[in-house]
Amino acid sequence: MIFTPEKYSIADERMKPFIDSREIWDYIDNATSSKERIREIIAKSLSKCRLNLGEVACLLNADSPELIEEIKQGAKTLKSTVYGNRIVLFAPLYIGNKCLNDCTYCGFRSSNADAVRKTLSDQEIVKEIESLEDEGQKRLILVFGEHAEYNPEFIAHTVKIAYSVKKGNGEIRRVNINAAPLDVEGYQIVKASGIGTYQVFQETYHPEAYQTYHLRGRKADYGYRLTALDRAQEGGIDDVGIGVLFGLYDWRYEVLALVRHVNHLEACYHVGPHTISFPRVKDSSGMNLQTPYFVSDEDFTRLIAILRLAVPYTGMILTAREPARLRDEIIQFGVSQIDGGTKIELGSYSEKDHSEKDLNRGQFHINDDRSLNEIIDELLDQEMIPSFCTACYRLGRTGEHFMEFSVPGFIKRYCTPNAILTLAEYLVDYAPENTAHKGWKAINRNIGKMEDEKTKASILEKIERIKAGQRDLYT
Ligand code: SAM
Ligand code: SF4
Repeated sequence: MIFTPEKYSIADERMKPFIDSREIWDYIDNATSSKERIREIIAKSLSKCRLNLGEVACLLNADSPELIEEIKQGAKTLKSTVYGNRIVLFAPLYIGNKCLNDCTYCGFRSSNADAVRKTLSDQEIVKEIESLEDEGQKRLILVFGEHAEYNPEFIAHTVKIAYSVKKGNGEIRRVNINAAPLDVEGYQIVKASGIGTYQVFQETYHPEAYQTYHLRGRKADYGYRLTALDRAQEGGIDDVGIGVLFGLYDWRYEVLALVRHVNHLEACYHVGPHTISFPRVKDSSGMNLQTPYFVSDEDFTRLIAILRLAVPYTGMILTAREPARLRDEIIQFGVSQIDGGTKIELGSYSEKDHSEKDLNRGQFHINDDRSLNEIIDELLDQEMIPSFCTACYRLGRTGEHFMEFSVPGFIKRYCTPNAILTLAEYLVDYAPENTAHKGWKAINRNIGKMEDEKTKASILEKIERIKAGQRDLYT
């Protein structure tokens, strides 16, 4: 490991790498997974308590089909009690794919001579955002390669553009970031532009495996990346997202290490990550990855269910890297956010004819190219409520503050009404007739099921205001 905390920031215990790979393996090697133990652990999670590392290791070791099914059912129950039946929708917007690093799995890696390099100009960003707004998008994640051009000032500038574009009733209400780790001052600059979540994925938490995939550039430094979100907290960003790129190392190890990372953030900053992402490696331009660690669909479903039980209050994101059929199935085991209408080639949202797919223009291959409306339509068929809610972040319910509110019932009490209101806006402004018909039926059904008369009355009153032309109403 070449990381030294003094080199980058404060000589602070919290800024030192906190993953001990031996410790993680010891937990896994010594965990028992008898029926009784697994049932006890699922019950603990269903009572909305966080699981400790030993308990998560037991779930990871439960291999019998019967126990795997019980874990999946437990996750399903937990998801519906904590999150209700809403799914938050967003879209990624790739701003630039220049990159100085050489991550062997990524189409943007510096050694990939076939990659078509591009950074969107201000005008191109505006055009992309107008197209996204025309579809009904309200929440974006801006994605960047790691390059001197994509400095904190540039990232902040693009965030400000995103918030400034208004077309018709369209506007972007939350801009998240997936970009390279910054130093504390860099995070302060980006924070001031009004971002939501700052995501940095560790890719693999195994230090030696990490070195074999990250060949050059700053990202080759495992420790600098591992402590990225400590510096973010230090810089005032208390809303952070973590993740693993599954397929680089043993999935059991990675799940436990993710939970270890959650524990670290909770212990040091009294706030866990806002979201966990779990991309699986997909084909990318010129990729030639030899690893024995590719994760099967079955294990992928299983690991998502285990993560759900391990960290009941953390949002979980499943992206269009996965095919539609699998996404539809997996959502029920714990996912709370998905992207919809995703296009990852730079500048492609505003292209008139986007039929031609070119792997050299994107970071990797996506497997779900349904439009935002198709996804909304299918979520409604599955009795889910598509949501574009941005209320918590705009009311300051983030970070430590947000944790206080994450008590049982909170998410259902605030998130379900806000999901309904943002869906109502979508139905009025963007939905074709058949989706609108389905959507209003779903809204009425969900309001009908609410027990609290005050909440019900408040939603109905706000829906009337939306129909009369008001926008952006939330609780
Ligand atoms: N360059 C920044 C970084 O590396 O953190 C920004 C993120 S990168 C553009 C977004 C994420 O895409 C990476 O963190 C990685 O997990 C994921 N990714 C890269 N190559 C991938 C592939 N072939 N298949 C699936 N996901 C991939
Ligand atoms: Fe660059 Fe990020 Fe791709 Fe690595 S994953 S090559 S840092 S864009």
